[in-house]
Amino acid sequence: MRKTSPPSAVSNDWLAGNGEMAERIRQFDWSKTPLGPATGWSAALRTTIGLMLANRFPMLLWWGPDYICIYNDAYISILGGKHPALGLLVRECWSEIWDILKPLIDTPFSGGASTWIEDLDLCMKRSGFNEETHFTVAYSPVPDPAVSGGIGGVLAHAHEISQKVVAERRVAILRDLGVETAESTAEETCRVAAQALARHGRDVPFALLYLIDPDRRHARLAGAAGIEQGKTASPPVVPLDPSAAVAPWPLADAFRSQQIVEVTDLSSRFIGMPVGPWAEPPHTAVVVPLRSNKAHELFGFLVGGVSARLKFDDRNRSFYELAGSQIATAIAKARAYEEERKRAEALAEIDRAKTTFFSNVSHEFRTPLTLMLGPLEELKREFGLSTSALSVPHYQQIDLVHRNGLRLLKLVNTLLDFSRMEAGRVQALYEPVDLGSFTAELASVFRSAIETAGLTLSVDCPSLTAPVYVDRDMWEKIVLNLISNAFKFTFDGEIEIALGQTATHAELTVRDTGTGIPADALPRIFERFHRVPGAQGRSHEGSGIGLALVQELVQLHAGQVTVESSYGKGSTFRVSLPLGSSHLPQEHVGAKSSQVSTALGALPFLEEALHWLPDAQRIEERVTGDLQGLPETSSGKKARILLADDNADMRAYVGRLLHTRYEVEAVADGEAALEAVARATPDLVLTDIMMPRLDGIQLLAKLRSDPRTSTIPIILLSARAGEESRVEGMRVGADDYLIKPFSALELLARVEAHVKMARFRKESERALKESKQQLSAELAAATRMQQVSTELVQAGDISTLLNEMLDAAIELSHADMGNIQLLEHGALKIVAQRGFEMPFLEFFNAVDEGLAVARQSG
Ligand code: ADP
Repeated sequence: MRKTSPPSAVSNDWLAGNGEMAERIRQFDWSKTPLGPATGWSAALRTTIGLMLANRFPMLLWWGPDYICIYNDAYISILGGKHPALGLLVRECWSEIWDILKPLIDTPFSGGASTWIEDLDLCMKRSGFNEETHFTVAYSPVPDPAVSGGIGGVLAHAHEISQKVVAERRVAILRDLGVETAESTAEETCRVAAQALARHGRDVPFALLYLIDPDRRHARLAGAAGIEQGKTASPPVVPLDPSAAVAPWPLADAFRSQQIVEVTDLSSRFIGMPVGPWAEPPHTAVVVPLRSNKAHELFGFLVGGVSARLKFDDRNRSFYELAGSQIATAIAKARAYEEERKRAEALAEIDRAKTTFFSNVSHEFRTPLTLMLGPLEELKREFGLSTSALSVPHYQQIDLVHRNGLRLLKLVNTLLDFSRMEAGRVQALYEPVDLGSFTAELASVFRSAIETAGLTLSVDCPSLTAPVYVDRDMWEKIVLNLISNAFKFTFDGEIEIALGQTATHAELTVRDTGTGIPADALPRIFERFHRVPGAQGRSHEGSGIGLALVQELVQLHAGQVTVESSYGKGSTFRVSLPLGSSHLPQEHVGAKSSQVSTALGALPFLEEALHWLPDAQRIEERVTGDLQGLPETSSGKKARILLADDNADMRAYVGRLLHTRYEVEAVADGEAALEAVARATPDLVLTDIMMPRLDGIQLLAKLRSDPRTSTIPIILLSARAGEESRVEGMRVGADDYLIKPFSALELLARVEAHVKMARFRKESERALKESKQQLSAELAAATRMQQVSTELVQAGDISTLLNEMLDAAIELSHADMGNIQLLEHGALKIVAQRGFEMPFLEFFNAVDEGLAVARQSG
């Protein structure tokens, strides 16, 4: 023992202060310790104690070579159950950590460096159990000139950071649980969460994750950390029915209450619970409900062991609550993802089925169509070459069937194109093409149609200097679709096809001065089956897939199609393709395609376009078809029928059906129909409902509102079947309603009936009018005769009377002239006359009785 300075007469005044430790130090019998009575303490010791007692930081002084403990009030809480430890040797007071502390104290006491440790991890037994604690410590030597070594003891500053350290670890656990994973199922999510918890055994010595079965009667183990699965404490399935046999964990309680359930005294429930990184197994566990976003519906449970080295307090409890909700959130995401995936899979399945269906059905359609078109072409050729007048109607009928067959084939081919694209089975053949001359060729196909319609076609497609790789069939469809659209929607002005080149791209421009596209319709113009409502074109026909196909085909060339349009002024479509071939899938460059081609060439496009032209001539050719089984028309003037339909083939067909019995005028829309009615009132109007400009219903309303045309019988033709459409048609005042397709006989019967009824009505009206007029004339004449006879009785002037009688008789018999002759002396003598000329009268007076005749004309 080192020598202490001799006791001097020092009073205890320096130990003033009224803290607990000041009092204890004063009262303590130091004489029983190696320090001896306080009165003999060195100045350094007294000063240090005074300084310590006045400080509110936890401070502890180990004095003398035995390290006798003296501490201040703030240090009491660190000691916990060890307080009071005044005057004890450190190795007695902190026996459980003495091996750690000793070198930390020895070094500064023996003249070495002060000790500074930010996080000293100590397992203290200050509350009756081995407790995990953390301190930031600073141990510094206290100089004392009164001792031989010059160092009287070591002053310890100790700042407990246990809560902070544990809180930081918990934040890390929660962060790990919240890490987004690509895991897609709730089970997988639980496995990943368990792995995360397994990395944090100090706080979660073991954990079990249970998911509730869809029948909500059992919970199934989906993940475990720090504990083997399938043991007594980790059964794979736990019943949720409270009446079931006792389960190892009270999941049923948590299921019912939806609250955390604490399970204590684990050692009496299970043998050999895992200890995690500690020496002691946990004695408490918690069952945390994993809440879904639906009220009162749990996903499952987290069973978590509580560290045996920490008190189970509110902080611990809320950590488990947070961990539970973190896991529940991940499960919710996984479930949503799972549902989304299932939905997407179901949709993809439907889509696959649809694509397969389309492609099968298209193939099925193509074969019979092709088989029909071949012979039809043969027949067309035969009849086309014939000079017989009789072959004209046959030719026209075959032409109609052929044209519509081609249209159908074009549509079927487009559907096949789409299904191939969707299935990723397009076999393109990209080859270097002289795009200028190819495009100009395609455009020139339309020249005659465009010019016949009174439009100008301008083609400016020079050969490009850089090579452009395209699939010829696809380019053909792109160009033909754009030109035919331009033609369909342009009524006057110009269509311009131009090809140009930038440093990187070839650019095709198809510009028209047509109807344009409303701004709000532009964003959807390339959508499949999208058509602009109310658009005015040469025809109402169309399916809204032309532009969608164009876009897909352009994209297959890694290109872009755009549109600019000004409503009422025109539209410009631009297709831009990269030059060269490096952007294209190399296996399709210059390769051969084994697929059946869906290209039909320009013919179907042209035939269709030609039929959008006004076709008055065609109808006027008066097709001489023979309708078997139909009675010939009754003699007399043919009734006039006005037919309005925007489909040229339909006009031709109906025209042919009616022409033998009626005069037919065919027009393509409601406006033209009105003009035709103004020129000559027809006996009957047959009109389609869907027509550009003025539709059938509007036409009907206009005709009905004009007294001159209000009684014309009107039959509506419509493709809209169903009772409602019929009722709607009749409600707006149609006389009849025929649904397409209709039979020839039905059409004729209805037309005949309405024409006859209209005639009968007209004739009855005329007869009535005439008989009325006649009746009133006869009445007037009879009245006159009555007056004359009255006058005759009364008056003596025979000559005046005779003249009046003659007037009345002329009027009654509608004659132009007349006379009255009297027999006088054996000869007839004219006594009153009207309308005879003098030579006749003189001649009459000269002849005798035998030759004379009473004459009357009229
Ligand atoms: P369809 O012509 O069969 O209706 P598209 O896909 O070719 O189908 O065109 C879709 C719609 O876009 C047309 O119905 C029309 O309203 C509009 N459209 C296309 N091209 C033009 C054009 N050049 N001018 C005006 N409108 C057009």
